[in-house]
Amino acid sequence: MRTFIKPKIVVSKCLEFSACRYNGDKINDDIIANLQPFVYFIPVCPEVEIGLGTPRDVIRLVANGEESRLVQPKTGHDLTESMTEFSNEFLGSLDDIDGFILKGRSPSCGISDAKVYSGLEKAPVVRTESGVFTKAIKNSYPNILLEDEGRLKNFIIREHYFTYLFTIAEFRELKEKNKTIAALMQFQARNKYLFMAMHLDKMRNMGKIVANHEKKSLEDVFTQYEEELILLFAKPPNADAHINVCQHVFGYFSKQLTLPEKEHFHSMLERFQQRKSPLSSVLSILRSWCYRFDNQYLLRQTYFEPYPEELIAISDSGKGRNLS
Ligand code: SF4
Repeated sequence: MRTFIKPKIVVSKCLEFSACRYNGDKINDDIIANLQPFVYFIPVCPEVEIGLGTPRDVIRLVANGEESRLVQPKTGHDLTESMTEFSNEFLGSLDDIDGFILKGRSPSCGISDAKVYSGLEKAPVVRTESGVFTKAIKNSYPNILLEDEGRLKNFIIREHYFTYLFTIAEFRELKEKNKTIAALMQFQARNKYLFMAMHLDKMRNMGKIVANHEKKSLEDVFTQYEEELILLFAKPPNADAHINVCQHVFGYFSKQLTLPEKEHFHSMLERFQQRKSPLSSVLSILRSWCYRFDNQYLLRQTYFEPYPEELIAISDSGKGRNLS
């Protein structure tokens, strides 16, 4: 069984941690609760941190031409500067972070769905955008993947984000404790089939970066590799990418299998392609062959277990590693 490095994740504090919403509520969130034993959470409520009490009068984003101001209609206070200042200070105080899980639709924490009103009172919504805290995150961490609690309820998005978090955390650990080309080669080798499913061209490009024919410095190799690694996760893989990987893995065993075994595998792959069966059914066949033929290289592949199995909720069974 794989040992996982715990990802470091900044989380909106009102999700599971504290009753700090404007109305004094806390949001119970099973996904955050389930993640807790497997990650290091850094909870923060930017609105409380800038001195707004709980409960508090609502704040909203108000359009001022192209830009938006964070204001409290009842008091008329403009909180844009204090929120930006706190956000930059807080983000600057953090070490390497692997991800952010934020509360959607908030004028502070929303990723891209915070409403911007045309005025202080009873005014229409003119657009949606990032909350002020999240804008600062995007400036400080331009490439990092962000998610909110609403999107994570979708199995495909959640699986993709968990895969990203645990992969990035392992890379961070490697960078901190074993920053060598040999360790990076092993990382690339262990993740070969996962990366192949994510993005074939990027996986190959990362292989070239590790091979380092241009004799770049260790620092440059790691920086370039990390940039590609984050881009590799830009979106979840599609069914064809998974089928390609499964066929590659099948190739390791095909000569040793009986005809009925091969036929059964191909029929499961076809069922997966037709969305009649989850990817997990195909993967469990392949994994059983890895054990049967004692293929240690494949057994070490993160593709078979990209994040802790305990994080797959019972309600996900049947969807296991299914696709958009
Ligand atoms: S959404 Fe953000 S600012 Fe609002 S209560 Fe939650 S943590 Fe605080």
